[in-house]
Amino acid sequence: METRETFSFQSEGKQLLDLMIHSVYSNREIFLRELISNASDGLDKLRVASLTEEALRPLFVDPHIRIAVDRKARLLRLSDNGIGMNREELVSYLGTIAKSGTKEFIRHLAERKEPLTPELIGQFGVGFYSSFMVADSVEVLTRKAGEGEAWLWKSSGDGVYTIEKASREGCGTTVALHLKPVGGGGEDEESLRPWESSSEEDFTDEGRICSIVRRYSDFVAYPIRMEVQNLDDEGKESGTKDEVLNSMKAIWTRPESEVSDDEYKEFYAHVSRDWAEPLTRIVYSAEGVTSFRALLYLPSKAPFDLFLREGERGIQLYVKRVFIMQDCKELIPEYLRFLRGVVDAEDLPLNLSREILQQDRRITVIRRSLTRKVLEELKALRGRDRGSYTAFWKEFGKVLKEGIFADERNRETLLSLALFCTTEREWITLDEYLESLKPEQKAVYHLSGGKLETLRNSPHLEAFQERGYEVLLLDDPVDDFWTGVVERYRDKPLKSVAKGAADLGEREEEAEKSDQAREERFAPLLKALAERLAEDVSSVRLSKRLTASPACLVGEAHSMTPQMEQLFRGMGQSVPKLKRILEVNPGHAVLERLRRRFEADGSLGDYPELLYGQATLAEGGAPADPARFARLVADLLERDLEGKR
Ligand code: ADP
Repeated sequence: METRETFSFQSEGKQLLDLMIHSVYSNREIFLRELISNASDGLDKLRVASLTEEALRPLFVDPHIRIAVDRKARLLRLSDNGIGMNREELVSYLGTIAKSGTKEFIRHLAERKEPLTPELIGQFGVGFYSSFMVADSVEVLTRKAGEGEAWLWKSSGDGVYTIEKASREGCGTTVALHLKPVGGGGEDEESLRPWESSSEEDFTDEGRICSIVRRYSDFVAYPIRMEVQNLDDEGKESGTKDEVLNSMKAIWTRPESEVSDDEYKEFYAHVSRDWAEPLTRIVYSAEGVTSFRALLYLPSKAPFDLFLREGERGIQLYVKRVFIMQDCKELIPEYLRFLRGVVDAEDLPLNLSREILQQDRRITVIRRSLTRKVLEELKALRGRDRGSYTAFWKEFGKVLKEGIFADERNRETLLSLALFCTTEREWITLDEYLESLKPEQKAVYHLSGGKLETLRNSPHLEAFQERGYEVLLLDDPVDDFWTGVVERYRDKPLKSVAKGAADLGEREEEAEKSDQAREERFAPLLKALAERLAEDVSSVRLSKRLTASPACLVGEAHSMTPQMEQLFRGMGQSVPKLKRILEVNPGHAVLERLRRRFEADGSLGDYPELLYGQATLAEGGAPADPARFARLVADLLERDLEGKR
């Protein structure tokens, strides 16, 4: 009976693998860090499982990681006695390189012509596959804790892998790398790779391995053992001895002054599996009702799945230096989900269940205290290094803004932290906005919906810009949500320039009078337009916000925006059709002529639909029936040309 089965990697996984194998990346040694992190996770998992499963308890003895090299065979082996994997897990964990969304992400990068750097590759959770940067082929022998069967996974990184039954003493995982040759020399051009000429890259060299482990994995909580050459008193080799390569010291328990920047960075790579450097770190310890220490990091780049919310790496929870769980969502509010790091609590029970976590008051205390600390640190970062802060905001601002909506307690602080693009400037704070308010300006004005460029050209801005009022341009979908709950900032109300009546400040009495006369003149036309467009708009009125465009659509002061309507529809919710107000500009020649025509013969032609359609287009929307709208425009062009012949 054939016992070896062959499988293929899914196509985007293969693509990712090819990119990684062929990228000329100088930091190949990080494959070891990735494998050690996986082994350490595997041991953590067994420890946690053995707390609840009696049968597994005897298996968690002498947890450790072992590295062994065979220089002649160019073989490097890394084993652990952790949780191991069964056949299904092998297929799903090591056969699925790419996460959901990867395909779109790679395409997106290709479209923007961005190179796929190792930092970007690192985002895909391809840790294990980095072995193929240094190995021609990789074997994984693994046995799941509590199960009798062991499995052997093999691949040469060429699109397929095999799985066969095998045997292994005890549970855990052994990864064996058949290392690429050192120094090139192969006849095949493929094997003449630039890095191979450097002796630095000999991963069978004991000294080299020791230094890589100390550099990247010193704080790993389990001993990393290796048999090394023993030197006698005269420095001669005499047999071998077993050595523990790492200090196992929890980095967050050491005083900040004694930990180097590099150590902090390596720890970040370990907890986050992010291959890029973090933007900054937050070291915090709190004492009181609940004592805990935290070492948190702000990543420099948002992971591509920030909005898919299935990321696994968040904040690790430890209790008294013992690992409890990988991604403890209860420790921070969702709008800070991009934070990575560790929280080590002093007075929580070791056998924490998810239910306890969700209810425990001490967890709430930790979450509040961490949130406050993180927001303080963000403020400090902004003061210290505006450039970095702006870069941070561009990556994560969208997420933080969810907090303005969701976290009432910190709403004011989050508002003060937010950066905005406006009609005049980029990435300013609300306080900076208030500082340059025109003396007669009564409100903080904003416009949302659509891309920045569309917003910049929106007819809604006309009268505001004419008066020199700066308007915040809100181009994130989340903006519609928080602007719906925030009434004011400091003492100024927040107002959308696309909603309600445009109240632009005091007006002269003279102007008021002529306004009234105009209202009367236009009243019959407005009524007729409203009747013709009754299906689409709630009313038609004269606009105070338009100076150059003939018409625009505005919402009621508290109505949904068209973007929200779309969002809710997208989520499968039924939303009543949103009818807005059509505002027309009485100062525009089109309206004046239409008024005269209507007065003369009571006809409106296709103009109501044309006005409505182009008001929709001007704000970045699409007419409900684009083909019909195009035909109306074509008819109009034809009539215009006819008249000119
Ligand atoms: P990541 O570790 O970022 O999830 P990897 O590609 O490195 O991505 O590993 C994929 C999965 O394979 C891991 O999440 C884990 O479930 C499993 N795995 C890898 N190595 C081990 C190991 N030594 N012990 C147990 N499980 C492992």
